[in-house]
Amino acid sequence: MTIGVICAMQEEINEIHKDMQSDRTTTIAGRDFISGTLYGQNAVLVMSRIGKVAAAVTAALLLEHFKVDKILICGTAGGVDPQMNVGDIVVADYSVQHDMNPGDNSFRIPLLDVDYLKSDEALTSLALQAVSEYASAQMTRDIPQEYLDKFHISAPKAVLGTIASGDQFICEKEKNTWLYEHVKNIKCVEMEGAAVAQVCYEWGVPFTVIRVISDGANDDSSVDFDLFIEKAARFFTRGIVRACFERMA
Ligand code: SAH
Repeated sequence: MTIGVICAMQEEINEIHKDMQSDRTTTIAGRDFISGTLYGQNAVLVMSRIGKVAAAVTAALLLEHFKVDKILICGTAGGVDPQMNVGDIVVADYSVQHDMNPGDNSFRIPLLDVDYLKSDEALTSLALQAVSEYASAQMTRDIPQEYLDKFHISAPKAVLGTIASGDQFICEKEKNTWLYEHVKNIKCVEMEGAAVAQVCYEWGVPFTVIRVISDGANDDSSVDFDLFIEKAARFFTRGIVRACFERMA
C-alpha cells in the first residue's frame, strides 16, 4: 500500500521530508513528488501549492502517475466554529467547496450532483483517534512554551466536522459569519481539501482531510498566519502525519 500525503506549504513538506528514508524525487508540472518510506509505510509526499486547482492537479498526479492507494491532506485552516481555537485539530467527515454555486444557491457540483463530499470512514476514524492522542499527549511538546503562550495554546482538542474550501484566504468577520451560517457543521476553512476530495471521489479512492487551526479567519488572520506557519504549523503537521502513519502500521 502506498499513501499520498499532500501539504500546501513548503515549510510543512521540509519538516516531514527529514523523516523520510530511501527517498527519491520526481518533478512533474513543477511539483516535487518525494517517494520513499515514511514512518514505516510506502509514501509519496508532495507540496500541492495553494488553492483548489493546484490541489486537484496534484491529487490527480498522485493517483494516475504514482498509483497511491489513499490520500491524506494535511495543513492549516482558519477557525469558523467559535469553539475552534488556534492549535485545535479538525478531521473532516465532510468537505465542501464554499465558492461553488451552480445558480441555485447550493454548493452542488454540477453533473456529479454532490455538495458535501464524505471522507473515507475507516481512514477518518483512524485519523481522529491518532490526532486526539497527539493533541492530548505530544503536541504541546513540539514547539517551545514561548510560542504556545503567544498563540494561547494550552489544551488543544481534536474534533470531527465539515471543512470548507475555496480560493480565498478568509480574513474578514463578515465572510466568517456567512460560512458559519451557510455550511452545515462547519469547523474551519482552507483552500485545498475539498478539491482533493472531489478528485478522490471521482477516482473512487479513500481520502481524509486533517487541519490544525492557525488563525481565526477574521481581521487578524494575516499576521497570525505567517507566524504560526513559521513557528508551529510545520511541527504540528509532521506530528499529525506521524500519528496517523503509526496507527496505520
Ligand atoms: N500568504 C500566502 C498564502 C497563504 S494561503 C501567500 O501569499 O503565498 C493560506 C494557506 O493556509 C492555504 O493553503 C489554506 O489552505 C490555509 N489556510 C489557513 N488559514 C486560512 C484562512 N483563514 N482562510 C483560507 N485558508 C487558510
